[in-house]
Amino acid sequence: MNIILLGAPGAGKGTQASKIAGKYKLLHISTGDIFRANIKGGTEIGKIAKSYIDAGKLVPDSVTCDIVKDRLTWDDARHGYMLDGFPRNLFQAQELDKFAHIDLCLNIDVEEALLMDRICGRRVCSCGESYHVSTLNGATTCAKCGKELYQRADDNPETVKARLDTYNTQTAPLIDYYKAQGKLAVVKSGEGSPDLVFEQICKVLGH
Ligand code: AMP
Repeated sequence: MNIILLGAPGAGKGTQASKIAGKYKLLHISTGDIFRANIKGGTEIGKIAKSYIDAGKLVPDSVTCDIVKDRLTWDDARHGYMLDGFPRNLFQAQELDKFAHIDLCLNIDVEEALLMDRICGRRVCSCGESYHVSTLNGATTCAKCGKELYQRADDNPETVKARLDTYNTQTAPLIDYYKAQGKLAVVKSGEGSPDLVFEQICKVLGH
């Protein structure tokens, strides 16, 4: 099964992706993670991506589509995968349809008013875990692996505003795109805990 995780920044895609990967054994492919690894490694792709990411804009489609197209040819993607953060506009979705078969698009729907606080209070670990400062009780290390938590460079109010604008204008139209293909499933992520959201996802994916 190949699925897309759709949702605004801060909707909890990364958190749900870890849970889905664990239960359904789907490979988690996050374009954001790929870009951040490239930035850390000082690669050419990283150099191109950094200025766009810092501005809350989308990295050019040519770069992004090539990365995903290549990643899907790796052996570990043969048994099903979950795309997190791709596609992010109609062009990318149309390109994806040329080189992949997608079974389902899971949209994590969340009220915009909740997003700014969620993202700006987010602390992440390099192992993939994500927390909110309000639940950390002052802890600075990951409860899962013990590594130091950090704040993503683009999780600041100014960049988040730009990322939300980008989402609304470029990514949200994908909801209708996948609806028209009969592949859309929506789960609501209000104030509910990640576990409650995951329960809804399990209902969609089957136990
Ligand atoms: P994310 O970790 O998914 O929030 O992505 C962080 C940033 O990486 C985004 O704000 C974009 O600048 C960039 N990015 C991630 N995925 C894509 C994509 N599919 N197309 C273009 N830019 C992307």
